[in-house]
Amino acid sequence: MKVITSPVEIQTVAQDFRAKQLTIGLVPTMGFFHNGHVALMKEAGRRADKVIVSLFVNPLQFGPSEDFDTYPHAFEKDCQIAEDAGVDILYTPNKKDMYSEEFATTIQVKGLTSGLCGGDRPGHFDGVTTVVGKLFNQTLPHIAVFGEKDFQQLAVIRQFVRDLDFPVSIIGYPIVREANGLAMSSRNSYLKKDEMDAALCLSTAIRYAKNLVRKQQNIAVSDIEKKVADTLLKHSECTIDYIQIVHQNTLQNCTQISSDSILLIAVKINNRIRLIDNSKLTGG
Ligand code: AMP
Repeated sequence: MKVITSPVEIQTVAQDFRAKQLTIGLVPTMGFFHNGHVALMKEAGRRADKVIVSLFVNPLQFGPSEDFDTYPHAFEKDCQIAEDAGVDILYTPNKKDMYSEEFATTIQVKGLTSGLCGGDRPGHFDGVTTVVGKLFNQTLPHIAVFGEKDFQQLAVIRQFVRDLDFPVSIIGYPIVREANGLAMSSRNSYLKKDEMDAALCLSTAIRYAKNLVRKQQNIAVSDIEKKVADTLLKHSECTIDYIQIVHQNTLQNCTQISSDSILLIAVKINNRIRLIDNSKLTGG
């Protein structure tokens, strides 16, 4: 596996792959790899000849009171994990090369970004779409793989790729979980032992909601949201940012449950660690 830091070099390498008729799969990440990232890397490997993983903690997508400065990192370990997953290139640009002092452009998706995480984290998705647009232009991928863990992010990326005619197929990959149900996340490393137990409330609440729907097909959306809130709030460490049942493509609130409904939850543990999770409410 090759490590590249220069945007010019990665673009040259990508052009060279394309000239040789090799397809490129990109997995954008912020590092501190876990098995969720590995699954995305392997999926890219199944779908493309060459896999590029970007590792860049993007300052544009963090709010002023968020964890940009403390975001976990373990570069040597990440290199080993990516290499073992069959990644061809780990692309780790630095901040100065990504955003010059004159940098003045934002990619902004309206509508889809206004609620849910966009409501709690103003400007977050503008940062995501802007960096992903840059990464696409630098790495010239045919496909790019994103996790359904960040469900709203995936919807927003699909939208800007459609709107701006990026010639990239966007692949969503299901949430990878710990054996106990907790959705894997780099931020799980912030959790102390007792907080880990509280964090499990997310996946427990999701299972509970799915059971409610299985047992009562006509249950009101507001009933599920209320019952999920009650389950989460049994944990004193947990505060709720949002619990919403939405249509999976539009992210608009559902009035009744259908195969298209998705439950999205964001909580804070001890007002310190923000965790998200989601699931469809019907089927498997
Ligand atoms: P991050 O490094 O947290 O920005 O995540 C990089 C990519 O990995 C994003 O597309 C995430 O949605 C995806 N991802 C993170 N955690 C998981 C998970 N538990 N399962 C599947 N994909 C994930």
